[in-house]
Amino acid sequence: MSDCLFCKFVSGEFATTKVFENDDFIIIRDINPQAANHFLAIPKKHYKLLADMTEEDSLTLGRILKTIPTLEDLLGLNGGYRLVINQGDDAGQTVHHLHIHILSGQKMGWNPAG
Ligand code: 5GP
Ligand code: ZN
Repeated sequence: MSDCLFCKFVSGEFATTKVFENDDFIIIRDINPQAANHFLAIPKKHYKLLADMTEEDSLTLGRILKTIPTLEDLLGLNGGYRLVINQGDDAGQTVHHLHIHILSGQKMGWNPAG
């Protein structure tokens, strides 16, 4: 999508440091970290919501979820970690390109409505 920030990171039109990349997705550091480590796993294909996924997208997302734990050292996952996917306005989704927040590196409380 032409006016999507994350599409521009994926394509390289906007410079960013990709800490990981494969055919399915990129991982970058969140600019406004909410934990000691806060990464964003961004599928290369643009869609906003889980509800928008095709069958093929869901296979891609499955591969992404399987890859994240293999990046334990890179992402600092060894003490445990949290994945968050904000969906829509009430959840506070601000970038309308599906992404998975990866939070790690500290003990976390639980305040999902915070
Ligand atoms: P959402 O609120 O849509 O679930 O998450 C969007 C995330 O993108 C936010 O955590 C926000 O800090 C992050 N973000 C927004 N703009 C940028 C940017 O220019 N660079 C990076 N690395 N992260 C960004
Ligand atoms: Zn996009």
